[in-house]
This record gives sequence, C-alpha cells and structure tokens, in this order.
Amino acid sequence: MIEPTHLTGLTENELVAFMEVLGEAAYRGRQVFTALHARRLQCFDAMTDLPRELRAQLNQHATAATLTLESRYISTDGTRRYLMKTRDNRPVETVFIPEEHRDTICFSSQSGCPLQCTFCLTAQLGLLRSLTAGEIVEQIIHALNDAYGVGVRTPRGVNLVGMGAGEPFLNFDELLKALGVMASPRGLFIVPNRVTISTAGIVPRIRELATIPNRPHLAISLAAPTDELRDELMPINKKWPLAELLAACQEFEKSLRPGERFTFEYVMIEGVNDADEQARQLANLLNRHGLRAKVNLIPHNPADPLPYQPSPAERIEVFKAILEAKGIRAFVRQPRGRDIFAACGQLAARHESPATQV
Ligand code: SAH
Repeated sequence: MIEPTHLTGLTENELVAFMEVLGEAAYRGRQVFTALHARRLQCFDAMTDLPRELRAQLNQHATAATLTLESRYISTDGTRRYLMKTRDNRPVETVFIPEEHRDTICFSSQSGCPLQCTFCLTAQLGLLRSLTAGEIVEQIIHALNDAYGVGVRTPRGVNLVGMGAGEPFLNFDELLKALGVMASPRGLFIVPNRVTISTAGIVPRIRELATIPNRPHLAISLAAPTDELRDELMPINKKWPLAELLAACQEFEKSLRPGERFTFEYVMIEGVNDADEQARQLANLLNRHGLRAKVNLIPHNPADPLPYQPSPAERIEVFKAILEAKGIRAFVRQPRGRDIFAACGQLAARHESPATQV
C-alpha cells in the first residue's frame, strides 16, 4: 500500500503542486494550506468549503494528521504534556506551558534520542527515529487546538522551544522545513523570531545556523565548565569538545541581531557541577571566549532511576552570584510540570503520572 502523503509537512507551494497532480487548480492548494494551518483542521471532512468529491479524493491519497494522542497529563501549574504515537508506533511528546504574557510550546524533534547525556531520561529510550517536518508541525497544531480550541486564533501568539525529546540538530533539514511551514502568514504564522532551538552542541550545525537568514534563536546545553566533566555528563563532548563548541558560538555571535542574545543552559546537579569553583570556571570560560551569552540555570529535574539530585536553591543562588560578579548574566529557571514528568529531561514516554490524566 502506498503511504498517503502527509500534507501538514508541505509548504504552501508544495501543496499547490500536490493539488495540481490531483487535477485541481492552484487556489485549492492554498485553501487546504489555510484549512490545515490557520484553521488547524485535522481531517479533510471538516473542510466543508471543499467540494465533497475533492474531500473524498484527499481522503484517498493524503492525510492531514498522523499522530494519535495516547495520554494527556495536566500539571498543578497548568502545564500539559501530550504523549502521542506516530503511525509506526513511535512515542512523541509535546508540552504546553501557559505563561503570563505568552504561552510556550515545547516540541520534540526525534522520537527518543541518540545522545547519552547521563542526566536526561530521554537518553534511556535511545534513538527510535527522527521526526518528519509534518510530525513536528502537527505537534504544535495538537497543542494549540487543545489549549485554545480548533479554528481559534492563538490569543497572544505563542513561543516555540525545540527542547523536547531528541537532538534537533541531528534532524536539521526536517526541523528547518517545519519552521518554514509554520512561519507562513497564511498559516500558523509563528515566525522564527518566536522560536528557540536547543542543541547539545552539534558544532557544524551551529555554524550553519548562523548563515541562515530568518533563523530561530539558539540555546546550547552546557552542563559542565570543563571537558573532563562534560565528557562524562554529555558524551557528545568527546566529538566536539568545549574549545570547538565555544569557537562555533563566537562565530554564531556575529550573526546576532540587535538586542538578540543566545543562551547557555546549565542543569544544576547537586555535588556534580554546582561548586563555587565550577561557577568561576564557567564564568572564566565564557569570558575568555568573549561571549556575551546569558546562562539559564536549570535545577535538575528528578529523573528516577538517575542517581542525581537537584542543587538546593541556596546553592544555585550562590552559583548565580559568582557568575554575575564576573559579568555573566544568569537566570534561574523555575521547573514546570515536574509532577507530570513534563519538565526538562523527563520526557521518556512515561504513561504513569502521579497527577491527573485528563
Ligand atoms: N538535545 C537538545 C534538546 C533537548 S533540550 C539539547 O540537549 O539541548 C533539553 C534541556 O533540558 C537541555 O538543556 C538539558 O540540559 C536539560 N535537561 C536534560 N535533562 C534534565 C533534567 N533531568 N533536569 C533538568 N534539565 C535537564
């Protein structure tokens, strides 16, 4: 059987071409693009402005949705975690984080992850596969529909973060394609300036991203101030050690737009990377490379069976003060959705949750 074409991952031009193959006029392609992305309809039968025969034809050759929702968990802080499944039964997780000014959706770029960061639960799944552009876009459509309702414009727009499961820069082409589709003003209209992609440090892609005109913002997961410790916590460091990573960051800094900063994420693990000396090493490392990036300190999220504990709040404050004293801007991130295993490093396709499944 031929797999139906997943229309959600096509650009407007590709969709027009697809419709032309079906013998339809170009405007039909644009109409379906709007229905999929601006109205966020997830089945052709709901597109009642299309002729009945066309809907039947689309049902035969194409699909508007490939992910099926398995479970939805709602945290006491309002965060929602969606555990979905691809057509070939791979888990996909997406998190909706309500915020005061603008809500955020955290999407996954891969099912599982090939990197073996010792502090992250997703690593335990290994890489199942990279997601397609359509599967990436669909995650956002699912989350928006659940949060605001089908067909309802997002009230204040949303921010996207590519910080879910997987390493986005190992799925670069599909990721960029998805961002292109989502940026369309006739569709979701989420422009790259509202998107932040986080990488564990795939150096060639950091350099490539710097050259892309309409690129998203960048965040880099650091977790350690020395190669010795980073090799242990994030084995990708053996391939691209800190000197190479930070050289790529220097290059990236040249591409920053006025007012734009990039971010280092530093997960705070008690007794592992949170000592005063390590704060000084981190500040010196960034200063030596002349980087003006900010540092987000993320208390480690409990990830049973990992042998780590979050640094106590007072420790994080001291660490932050040391960075600031050396001229580094540092912020402490409040964990969201820990109770439903939705926080950073907790996405491991878990079905159980101490909180309510709704
Ligand atoms: N692979 C990409 C995208 C995942 S982002 C990357 O590594 O950047 C996930 C973020 O959560 C990373 O910054 C990572 O350092 C952080 N993280 C992973 N496990 C965590 C945990 N258990 N607690 C807190 N943060 C964690």
